[in-house]
Amino acid sequence: MQPFEVRPKDEYILVIDDTPPNLHLLIAMLTRRGYATRGVSDGLVALSEIPTNIPDLVLLDINMPSIDGFEVCQQLKANELTREIPVIFISARDEVIDKVQAFEMGGVDYITKPFQIAEVLARIENQLTLQRLKRKLQEQNEQLKQEINQRIIAETMLQEANEKLGRLVNIDGLTQLANRRCFDQYLEQEWQRLAREQMPLSLIMCDIDFFKNYNDTYGHIAGDDCLRKVSFLIKQSVHRPADLTARYGGEEFVIVLPNTDIEGAIAIAEVIREQLLKLALPHDDSKVSEFVTLSMGITSIIPIVDSQPSVLLTSADYALYQAKELGRNQTYTIG
Ligand code: GH3
Ligand code: MG
Ligand code: MG
Repeated sequence: MQPFEVRPKDEYILVIDDTPPNLHLLIAMLTRRGYATRGVSDGLVALSEIPTNIPDLVLLDINMPSIDGFEVCQQLKANELTREIPVIFISARDEVIDKVQAFEMGGVDYITKPFQIAEVLARIENQLTLQRLKRKLQEQNEQLKQEINQRIIAETMLQEANEKLGRLVNIDGLTQLANRRCFDQYLEQEWQRLAREQMPLSLIMCDIDFFKNYNDTYGHIAGDDCLRKVSFLIKQSVHRPADLTARYGGEEFVIVLPNTDIEGAIAIAEVIREQLLKLALPHDDSKVSEFVTLSMGITSIIPIVDSQPSVLLTSADYALYQAKELGRNQTYTIG
């Protein structure tokens, strides 16, 4: 079966010819072949009707009294609504100049009278097939565009979800600081970089004093809130884009300070202690202050190529231990 053998139900041909016998003959011929047709004997009438009932093809006479076929065609082509309708001229004029003009006006074919029925039908069917193919192509194009749009939307959503996931994987849910995983990766990366550059890498390890007592006194919800406030304060005290503040675990925080020597790290630790003092979060059950305090271990190293950052961590951990041992609410420096 041919793909376009079945004619679409609403497909119809408009015949415009001012000579009644011609009009009737063409209509009778087309109707007999199963085409839906309409006949109009005046070009102006046709032009006024066409936009509200668009035909699939126009069979157009050239010599007509009120307006000639060339003019009708020109007006159809000038209107966006009717521009795509294929126009076949059917005329007794057999001069080359007429045919050339017909094509210039936007006609798709030219049949000379007297015509052979078989030829007219073949030319009509040829144009209708082209139209159907064109429409089908436009539909497929439209569908393709929609599919591409849907794909773009889906890809954007996926990308956003991935970015969100990437952030979540690296962020501590309670404090919104970088998490342990992110810290480990970053420390390793900066360690290797600064080993190549032979520049210092400093690390501050902080631990809230008597935080178990804080929870016991104020409850876990208040404890969480305190952790958030201290986290925020630490983050606010660290400014360089390469600095990283992370939650190391429980009530412990770490600050990675690339390209920063021990004096720079001590200065930052002092700022944190000062700010915490200003914040004055009450802690009734602390044995070293009436407010929440931090103990901090500070350390700084110029990394050695092919070594591991665990030396820096061990050193910071030991410094923190010393700060606790020496009475808490203080810093201890190794560097
Ligand atoms: P030190 O001064 O020696 O550091 O004493 P500490 O009580 O702060 O230390 P310890 O390690 O004995 O207790 C830490 C406490 O921190 C115990 C735990 O309940 C609390 N903690 C850890 N993570 C969280 C948390 O996410 N939320 C709350 N509310 N408490 C936490
Ligand atoms: Mg601790
Ligand atoms: Mg503690």
